[in-house]
Amino acid sequence: MNILVLNCGSSSIKYQLLDMKAQPVILAKGLVEKIGLPMGIFTHKPEGKEKLIIEQPIPDHVDGMDLILKALIDKKYGVIDSLNEINAVGHRIAHGGEYFSHSVLIDEDVKAKIKACSEIAPLHNPAHLKGITTMERLLPSVPQAAVFDTSFHQTLPPKAFIYGIPYEYYEKYGVRKYGFHGTSHKFVAEKACQILGWNIAEKKIITCHLGNGASITAIDKGKSVDTSMGFTPVAGVIMGTRCGDLDIGALLYICDKKQFTSLEAVRLTNKESGVYGISGVSSDFRELDAAVAEGNQRAQLAIEVFCYDVKKYIGSYAAVLNGVDLIVFTGGIGENNSIVREMVCNGLEYLGVDFDSNINQQARGVDRTLSKADSKVRVMTITTDEELVIATDTMELVKSIK
Ligand code: ADP
Repeated sequence: MNILVLNCGSSSIKYQLLDMKAQPVILAKGLVEKIGLPMGIFTHKPEGKEKLIIEQPIPDHVDGMDLILKALIDKKYGVIDSLNEINAVGHRIAHGGEYFSHSVLIDEDVKAKIKACSEIAPLHNPAHLKGITTMERLLPSVPQAAVFDTSFHQTLPPKAFIYGIPYEYYEKYGVRKYGFHGTSHKFVAEKACQILGWNIAEKKIITCHLGNGASITAIDKGKSVDTSMGFTPVAGVIMGTRCGDLDIGALLYICDKKQFTSLEAVRLTNKESGVYGISGVSSDFRELDAAVAEGNQRAQLAIEVFCYDVKKYIGSYAAVLNGVDLIVFTGGIGENNSIVREMVCNGLEYLGVDFDSNINQQARGVDRTLSKADSKVRVMTITTDEELVIATDTMELVKSIK
């Protein structure tokens, strides 16, 4: 079964076409960027074939999707003979609010609920809806599924998701902690347990998804019980360009000083902050590491703040879980940056972490145990694969139709 996985942003579409045999294979993947801008870019990477790059105006999502579908069946760059070979489409949806605790097949009701969540996810859900309606037009007979970043965290107990503000803001406007990156947290926790031969239903796990966006999750018996992102993905640890947890008083003070509108405050806290804001160098940890090597102290400080934040969340989630059996690192930084993993784990001996620095230094983009054999707490790095989760969920939902 071939499944097209789509992640539609406001000006971009990421995609993968997967052949879901016993060992799933990526047939092609790519990216449409700068939709709606004077010049767009389309990059298509078919497996075993030459890469295709097209630069041309891409006025809207329909044009973007059209480029993708044409490339998939192109004589030179294509990987399937006809669009009939696409059996289903799986969409990554950022926000499912309190409506969705599982992935679902898309129908009118699901679309209405995704639309209702647009109010609390204005940067993401409208673009996802555009993606869904476009695919309905271009591939009308193909079933589509929605896989939500938030659904894994719907098991959070009220004490973990209610904010300390008047309750009516939760009741009237849905203001509460939702959490994100759920697909990744669930996937790496399950994969780690599979590798270790553990029953996840008996384990206490802390997963650290560290990429441009970063979040930490406490998982008890396979269920998310707390997570660091909140009503929006700006909360929790500091990130590439997001500020993470911040004293609201400080933000209001800045807004007063600079006469910021709420949009400008969103820009400051989402795009100009985090390790980028502290270092003034970059949001990318590879560039930060390079700057540190040249003696840049603010880059060093940015990395220290990041690792300190992650460590604090691990400590607090160990308290939430009453102990921890396994700590998992994933995401671009968690999978590749041994310096960050070492800085985070250094000082977790009190929890029972006996970290193996030598193995850590060699572990890059692989699934590996980073703790010593007799460490009470296991530490692992696990490669995440959100597209595979979306494709797998979509396949299972489509199979259930028949
Ligand atoms: P996103 O949240 O956008 O998916 P990623 O998970 O790709 O982000 O993470 C981006 C971060 O991961 C960057 O800071 C980058 O430095 C780091 N990173 C990604 N790939 C590598 C790599 N191969 N080697 C070292 N660092 C990497």
